[in-house]
Amino acid sequence: MFIQYDHKGEPFMMDSRYSRQMLVSSIGKQGQKKLNEASVLIVGGGALGSHMAEMCARMGISQITILDRDYVDLSNLQRQTLFTEEDVLNKEAKAFALEKHLKKINSSIKIEGMVADVNKQILEQYIHNIDIVLDCTDNFDTRFLINEVCILHNKKWIFASCAGTYGNVVPISPGKSACLDCLLANTPFFNGASCDLIGVQTTLIPFITSIQSSIMVKMLIQQEEFDDYYFYQMDSWKLQMNKFAVRRNKECKSCVCKEFEHLNKAYTDEATQLCGRDTVQFRTSLHEEAHFQQLVNYLDEHAISYKRNKFIVSFSYKDHPIVLFKDGRLLIHEVPDVKRAKKLYYQLFN
Ligand SMILES: [Zn+2]
Repeated sequence: MFIQYDHKGEPFMMDSRYSRQMLVSSIGKQGQKKLNEASVLIVGGGALGSHMAEMCARMGISQITILDRDYVDLSNLQRQTLFTEEDVLNKEAKAFALEKHLKKINSSIKIEGMVADVNKQILEQYIHNIDIVLDCTDNFDTRFLINEVCILHNKKWIFASCAGTYGNVVPISPGKSACLDCLLANTPFFNGASCDLIGVQTTLIPFITSIQSSIMVKMLIQQEEFDDYYFYQMDSWKLQMNKFAVRRNKECKSCVCKEFEHLNKAYTDEATQLCGRDTVQFRTSLHEEAHFQQLVNYLDEHAISYKRNKFIVSFSYKDHPIVLFKDGRLLIHEVPDVKRAKKLYYQLFN
């Protein structure tokens, strides 16, 4: 840590790395101290996650944990900050790539990137020692899971989503403000389109994350006095931002009745088509080292060339790019449907 102490034992930071932020009257020295003691969990290391992680590192958040299941792809570079063409060539895991780049920006804080498909166990493993969960995901299944885990463990979180030129941000404090379930029940004009289907404008991302991170800073500094529980909507083309009050649903099955539908959902290992992409994901038993090596041996025997790093093996089979992750997930790209993907899967492994 580069935190230094003056003769009274008061911390001052690295010749005032944060001096300009401390000069801001609403933050000050005490506010900066709270930021320097805060921990955040960033779920998703893509467009929103990479921007949020960079801002958190620069403003001196003490501990940043990033969960992401994916690797860096060429189509990410248009909007996902910090990633490089070298990361694309190496199929670097986004979580590891962010950890590596962020450590060069701020070596005085703790940054941990975890390659993981977010589920209940993973969230509960990380949620205990953190102050705020930052939703930087791209799907509602994960958001509902975050919603329920945060209600169960009484953690604040900030919902964010983006598509096209349009974004949403909502701070959520269980028991105090509307949860995600309340929000969707009370907000018929909610726009939940996917960026895989309608694209996403580069400039939308910092527009959204500046709102998400501003809310995060206020929540961390004001703590229980924070009261800006609004639904923020923004459009990076119309250059508009609106905010609406959202009431809690008195009969909400999540935050009132505590009926956790997503936490209790049985785990399924079915093949699933990823939303908006010509990609099918399988959950395999190939997560054990021996099985992972078995696949590599198979590829060697059949003279199929592959690339390998510490968390994936990628290769092409019958003109379909295939990626196997260390945790057992396998993606078959450029397939029209699950049926075709299953056929390829069984040809490959039987
Ligand atoms: Zn609710």
